Amino acid sequence: MEMQSTRQPSAASSHAASAGYTGRISPNLLVRICARITVGSPHELGMVHAPFNNEPIRSVPLGREADIIEAVRRARGAQVEWARWSFDQRARIFLAYHDLLLDRQDEILDLMILETGKARKHAFEEVVDTAIVSRYYALHAEDHLRPRKRMGALPGLTKTWEYRHPLGVVGFIAPWNYPLTLSMTDAIAALMAGNGVVLKPDMQTPFTALWGVDLLYTAGLPADLFQVVTGRGKVLGEPLIRHADFISFTGGTETGCAIARMAGERLIGCSLELGGKNPMIVLDDADVDAAAEGAVRGCFANAGQLCIAIERLYVQAAAYGRFVERLVARTKAMRQRASFDYDIDVGSLVSQDQLDKVVRHVQDALGKGAWILAGGRARPDLGPFFHEPTILEGVTPEMDVSSEETFGPVVSVYRFDTIDEAVRMANDTTYGLNAGIWTRDAAKAKRLATHLRAGTVNVNEAYAAAWASVDAPMGGMKDSGLGRRHGAAGILKYTEPQTVALQRLHPIAPPPGVSDEKFSRLVSMALRLWRRIPGIR
Ligand code: NAD
Repeated sequence: MEMQSTRQPSAASSHAASAGYTGRISPNLLVRICARITVGSPHELGMVHAPFNNEPIRSVPLGREADIIEAVRRARGAQVEWARWSFDQRARIFLAYHDLLLDRQDEILDLMILETGKARKHAFEEVVDTAIVSRYYALHAEDHLRPRKRMGALPGLTKTWEYRHPLGVVGFIAPWNYPLTLSMTDAIAALMAGNGVVLKPDMQTPFTALWGVDLLYTAGLPADLFQVVTGRGKVLGEPLIRHADFISFTGGTETGCAIARMAGERLIGCSLELGGKNPMIVLDDADVDAAAEGAVRGCFANAGQLCIAIERLYVQAAAYGRFVERLVARTKAMRQRASFDYDIDVGSLVSQDQLDKVVRHVQDALGKGAWILAGGRARPDLGPFFHEPTILEGVTPEMDVSSEETFGPVVSVYRFDTIDEAVRMANDTTYGLNAGIWTRDAAKAKRLATHLRAGTVNVNEAYAAAWASVDAPMGGMKDSGLGRRHGAAGILKYTEPQTVALQRLHPIAPPPGVSDEKFSRLVSMALRLWRRIPGIR
């Protein structure tokens, strides 16, 4: 999704009058963080708008290939020295960042709400997530990356180590929905692994990303190591892939496929965190109150604009009536309006495009015979892009909402009888990102989880338990992605493995006077014996 552009005389210097919601943010803050944008010559500018009322906030440069080249050059220059820093030295910066994030949260919460329109409690999720990941990689990067002794080719004669080297400069392309988390947390892993970073944030939410980067420099990051180029994905994506050493992408599946093709042509690695159509299964032994509360959190967090949000609810027949009654009551009680305080449950959608998609899915479903249990309407009286949290029943496969990702506050409820049926329905999607299960029987839940084709499965939660378990991998199966963030997988991907093997005393070759034929027989005999020695693997 791209913004309108306007040609203006000077780069990054104009901003809207401090009126309305924009007045909450100090113009000095915007000037300070915009100084972090890598720009060469004067540029066309693109305006960023506040979703609560669509007022202009400030414009940012629409970067071009020359800016990417300059950003990669600067990051590459700084990375050489950074790669020599010890893990402890790097960790000090990210631990300081953790503390600064918590200390300065009010500033970023206001800024994030201004440019995304989300509820404050959902903005807070980003602050806490970024702090947790920062602390995690500060304290655990060395465990994942230190040189490891590996089994040698000839026991006793070959000593073998595995090293992990930084890749160089990692390019990040981030979406607008969780602009702090998705611009910063993967980049923190890449930096802790010794890389430089060039980030292209989404044009709808550049300020949150810039604030996150600015704070990292305040925490002590060396100059130039983390570059930000603002502009359009279609213009900047290809040059970034052409000049970086790895691409980390979070966004839609279609864009992800295009990025994988471009990375393939250059033979560089990429990780892709893509879309989802995530199911939640409520078994008839579940605590129905807790499940309904959890479903409300899981379906309507960030107004449903969350890749791991629940869009399909499968409820076992005996619990269906009680669950749906509670779900509907809780959904109807949600507080929705434009607010910067912790007094609302659902905010605005980010843009007209998002609202159009939500309305299209709801109208298509109603036109084909589904009906509404709660919500169902856009709310222009609250702001231009608001839409009520909505529950649909009677959804069938020919309706777009049954298989397409809505990425909005819309969930469909379905009834099932047997667990096999629930597994079949939950897996009947091209996506495989996240799933939830509600039951009082932990053993049953674990068995059921392993039959779900989803990268994360939450038991008695919707998404937060697996997402916030940052020592474990997070990402998608099938069309939901390639590669994982968090844990060992989330940092190893930013390194190049290298094996160093030291041969001692005897080469891997026949001893003097032994023919190749005799040597082959000796080696075969040794291998047969070796295989039979108990305890040797
Ligand atoms: P999008 O793919 O349109 O845009 C994401 C980013 O890619 C933006 O920065 C955009 O400018 C850039 N981009 C667009 N076209 C490009 C191109 N041709 N080359 C390079 N970059 C390009 O996605 P969106 O609609 O903004 O974001 C919502 C999608 O992201 C949803 O499908 C959602 O599920 C997904 N998402 C996934 C995760 C995850 O972790 N799996 C997290 C958040 C969002």
